[in-house]
Amino acid sequence: MKTNENYQQKLDNLILVMKKSGFLNDKKVELAIRNTPRHEFVPITLIKKAYDDSPILIMKNQTISQPSVVSRMTEWLDVEEGQKILEIGSGSGWQTAILAYLVGCGMVYSVERHSELAEFAKKNLDKLGITNAKVISGDGSFGFPEESPFDRIIITAACKKVPDSLLEQLSINGLLIAPVGGYPQSMVLLKKTSTGIIEIKNQPGYVFVPFLGKTSEDI
Ligand code: SAH
Repeated sequence: MKTNENYQQKLDNLILVMKKSGFLNDKKVELAIRNTPRHEFVPITLIKKAYDDSPILIMKNQTISQPSVVSRMTEWLDVEEGQKILEIGSGSGWQTAILAYLVGCGMVYSVERHSELAEFAKKNLDKLGITNAKVISGDGSFGFPEESPFDRIIITAACKKVPDSLLEQLSINGLLIAPVGGYPQSMVLLKKTSTGIIEIKNQPGYVFVPFLGKTSEDI
């Protein structure tokens, strides 16, 4: 998959903007973003904004995340080839596709609560011939026990607290990243060890759409 020439310059510029503001330091993640054309994941009416470093409204009042934030989350998640990843909140499928690029022969499972968005993400991934990512329509607060444990888990919506069900589905030595808290949220990176969960990173100042699930009173 290649970004066509019309968008190449805009993509180069976006990469430059992200780097200037201190994002996107990892070559592997840069390559993944370069090979995952964002204009294929935004509604046609907003395609001109595809390479702005900003979130864009998709449908159901949800957004495709801001590129610099996607790059930071992807870098912190430290994805390796062959891994099995769980994503909660597929949205447009852009972050899903970036993860799919990085896992190579591995697999990404992405759960989306809005069926229209699950369809949108599926369509976008299919369009690019991505076969190592599967979108599941449903409530991600329960995770995806059928395929657990996961080497990496990413939540792309703001949760008050990381659901225990997701921590249970993380492998030992696995990493989980999520925006946590009220408004704004902190980006939190957790690691599961044989003796419990430890916090690796915590950075304030992020704003995400809310994580809404059956168990949302508890999370
Ligand atoms: N990463 C996506 C953007 C995600 S926006 C992209 O780049 O396009 C957050 C998404 O999380 C929304 O689509 C929202 O519907 C979804 N979401 C919120 N709570 C959820 C839940 N409990 N289970 C599954 N998806 C959820």
